[in-house]
Amino acid sequence: MQIIDGKEVAANLRKEIAAEVEQWVASGHRRPHLVAILVGNDGASQTYVGHKEKCCGEVGFRSTVLRLPEETTEESLLQEIARLNVDPEVDGFIVQLPLPKHISEQKVIEAIDPKKDVDGFHPVNTGRMISGLPAYLPATPDGILELLKYYKIETSGRHCVVIGRSNIVGRPIANLLSQKGWDCTVTLCHSRTKDLKDVVRSGDIVIAALGKAEFVTADMVKEGAVIVDVGITRVPSNKTKSGWKLLGDVKFDEVAPKCSYITPVPGGVGPMTIISLMKNTLKAARKEIYK
Ligand code: NAP
Repeated sequence: MQIIDGKEVAANLRKEIAAEVEQWVASGHRRPHLVAILVGNDGASQTYVGHKEKCCGEVGFRSTVLRLPEETTEESLLQEIARLNVDPEVDGFIVQLPLPKHISEQKVIEAIDPKKDVDGFHPVNTGRMISGLPAYLPATPDGILELLKYYKIETSGRHCVVIGRSNIVGRPIANLLSQKGWDCTVTLCHSRTKDLKDVVRSGDIVIAALGKAEFVTADMVKEGAVIVDVGITRVPSNKTKSGWKLLGDVKFDEVAPKCSYITPVPGGVGPMTIISLMKNTLKAARKEIYK
């Protein structure tokens, strides 16, 4: 059994991106510029945006965080987005989710110019991805693909079971792995799936993205399977200083001995997601997806 070390893969990719950025700048271009809009005071969102800002510094990007108050109206957020859409100094931008309840996330996502939508959430990017056209891929699915690539895990002809059908993880990763090049046979499961245990047990590759701590147990996993654990649930713990710890969707200790590969939580899929955002921003600066 091999543990997939997302931290190590992310660190290597970060170095590669940094080298590409220096080449890009040395050939006379300005530094790629990523803007993050943060509305309100959600603690987790502030932490995520902080990590993104730090990573921008590490790969040599310019980064800007627009901090807007909780009471920002939908209209003024949409105006801010319209301004960024046409700002020639901004290559890509993201609006950190979740947004305060009075703002429609869907409206906000659709207001972003697909050319600058480096989160890959706009329906134009989703549609292009599903059609197999160049697109900004959403961060978590792209991070999973990078891990599979890095560890040279065979996907062709293998049965991949995805648990969870969210727009940001389950559905896109199921679609991507079924595409030419990855060539998995994919089953996408959700809360109405019948005989889920049997379905999961038939998976050569299992991607757990349902958000239920330690849901996948050893009896649900085939011997030698590849397990990708996307779930992150914060649970109280008296063993940590913070008073809480993170659990994945997989019962790691009992599942790991049965697997060929497994991603831990934390330190598996999580560190990869920021890397995908960096990749997309560099693509935006180079106008690789949209000429
Ligand atoms: P989500 O929107 O929370 O949706 C959960 C999905 O799981 C739904 O499709 C739901 O089915 C399905 N589900 C729930 N209970 C189930 C059950 N008992 N059996 C089978 N399917 C079940 O999903 P998400 O936003 O993708 O998040 C999933 C988890 O991944 C969360 O823990 C989240 O924190 C984590 N996450 C991690 C990262 C990372 O960077 N590592 C990134 C994103 C998300 P229905 O559609 O039928 O309701």
